[in-house]
Amino acid sequence: MSVAAVGIGSNLGDRFANLVAAAVGLGAESLLAGVSSVYETAPVGGPEQGPFLNAVVIIETATPARALLHAMLNIERARDRKRLVRWGPRSLDLDLLIFDAATIDLPGLTVPHPRLLERRFVVEPLLEVWPDAVLPDGTLVAGVGVEGDEPLGVYPFPSVSSPLRGGGSAVGR
Ligand code: AMP
Repeated sequence: MSVAAVGIGSNLGDRFANLVAAAVGLGAESLLAGVSSVYETAPVGGPEQGPFLNAVVIIETATPARALLHAMLNIERARDRKRLVRWGPRSLDLDLLIFDAATIDLPGLTVPHPRLLERRFVVEPLLEVWPDAVLPDGTLVAGVGVEGDEPLGVYPFPSVSSPLRGGGSAVGR
């Protein structure tokens, strides 16, 4: 089994429902081992657009990284994700942040995610659910100071029913 961290974000449509769909979709593929709170954050770059909801999900998976990315893109598509403008508003965005201690540099898949450490809205929820997260080069994520605005709000992740490690019944609060 591999452990992976997946960043999820939404700033279009029913943003909470989009995040829940992402967690449910990942839970169908893998075991949900942790789900962060939901961080509401101002958009960074791109055209003028509404605030995002961001969270990080930790999964335990038997799926190889490439196939996992494929599943993630399908989860985005199922929420009507369209790629119209780079950095533009999106119903659902899934980023493979960390996959075990793997360094992957393939066309269409770079892991760890190249902008992981630049984004407070990724680092903060990641550390909430995985305080000891380490990159393949040994960098302790918690040891890297990350710039960025305070979140506009932090909310509990809505409950998600899924087959859970240890036989629990829900993740989130
Ligand atoms: P985005 O517009 O941010 O959703 O970009 C998604 C594209 O980035 C996908 O088509 C992937 O092939 C590519 N990509 C490369 N590395 C990653 C990664 N670590 N996680 C998610 N997408 C990635």
